[in-house]
Amino acid sequence: MSKTLQAIRGMNDILPEQTPLWRYFEGTVAGLLDGYGYRQIRMPIVEFTDLFKRSIGEVTDIVEKEMYTFEDRNGDSLTLRPEGTAACVRAVLEHGLSGGGQVQKLWYMGPMFRHERPQKGRYRQFHQIGLEVFNLDGPDIDAELIVLTWRLWKLLGIRDAVTLELNSLGTSEARGRYREALVEFLTAHLDQIDEDSQRRLKTNPLRVLDTKHPETQAVLVNAPKLADYLDDESRVHFEGLKARLDAAGIPYVINPKLVRGLDYYSKTVFEWVTDKLGAQGTVCAGGRYDGLVEQMGGKPTPGVGFAMGIERLILLLETLEQVPESISRQVDVYLCAFGEQAELAGLTLAERLRDEVPGLRLMVNAGAGSFKSQFKKADKSGALHALILGDDELAQQVVGFKPLRGQGEQQNIAWSALADHLATCVVQG
Ligand code: ATP
Ligand code: MG
Repeated sequence: MSKTLQAIRGMNDILPEQTPLWRYFEGTVAGLLDGYGYRQIRMPIVEFTDLFKRSIGEVTDIVEKEMYTFEDRNGDSLTLRPEGTAACVRAVLEHGLSGGGQVQKLWYMGPMFRHERPQKGRYRQFHQIGLEVFNLDGPDIDAELIVLTWRLWKLLGIRDAVTLELNSLGTSEARGRYREALVEFLTAHLDQIDEDSQRRLKTNPLRVLDTKHPETQAVLVNAPKLADYLDDESRVHFEGLKARLDAAGIPYVINPKLVRGLDYYSKTVFEWVTDKLGAQGTVCAGGRYDGLVEQMGGKPTPGVGFAMGIERLILLLETLEQVPESISRQVDVYLCAFGEQAELAGLTLAERLRDEVPGLRLMVNAGAGSFKSQFKKADKSGALHALILGDDELAQQVVGFKPLRGQGEQQNIAWSALADHLATCVVQG
């Protein structure tokens, strides 16, 4: 017996009922980014495994246990991208986009893959919109990234539901000195921290700060603070960022434990979090990664970026009931035609209307049917108006124009006047 075919756990279909909200969200972000001069880049979904190991870091949740890695037919080890920064940097280097200190402001969007435990807001295939900026090292650009997300939250109507958390990780030298102090402290408390953290203490001690383990968290309360080890350069940078956020009126909280899951960050790190989604509360996260390009074989190139989780933001829009009503209607006008001649005329009329009324969403009845059945379909389509074309209308070169929502009588409109009529009543609708 064949098993029912099913999608892979944690990999979701986005059904037609949901796609209008996705398109609204993606369109809002794309429009916003156009307004800031960011340009879109599209990278492949599959890359050599090595790319992620080298950029994200071997001792991270992603590389240790979340990657979808497989062997290509020729024996290459390939991985479904778990995030976008690595591939974006690879593409920038491969095509020389950051050469000669060229500034690049890039964004991308698409599916990412991580083998995690699926739950609300956490999936195995999920979608991100990410931004990466190259060759700008000042806090002004860090601030711009935050300012534009702040504007996005307003556009989406979710500004009150998100909080900005900020931290600075310092330069790699400062982090090195802090790392030593942290290792010393944690080594003295070795028996009080969980096994994972004990292991990380040896491989990547800063990641211990990120632990979800309550006992280790309790130990960390008294651990040395990264802020006390910040170098002057990072401190000035961080102050510069905070001053700009203050000037822009963007509230934030400093979270000294914010270290981010990936190895490549330096100086600024930030997360936008919400308490409206339960445990999966981070909707957008990023930071500065001045060492990454060099680590990946390029010239020293400052970089800063972030990624937002589309699923979580969509959930937030739904939770806060910030789904604009207008996006649910996908058809403006539904054309019903009765009889072979009327159907033929309807086809040409519909094409003409599509030429003449930009943006018109016109659905033509397919599969014939009685008055009753066509009107039922017209109603179900969500259209505001039905156009009716039968033998009588055909003879007079008119259509019956019937409002489907609210008041208004059916009236006949000449074909020649129809485009103008639709342009006025559909756009307002
Ligand atoms: P988390 O701590 O929740 O695992 P992360 O630090 O692994 O997040 P990033 O790699 O920074 O996440 O990804 C940026 C954003 O992408 C997250 O803030 C989140 O909104 C989203 N995201 C990450 N992993 C998932 C997932 N498995 N499912 C849905 N969204 C995700
Ligand atoms: Mg994660």
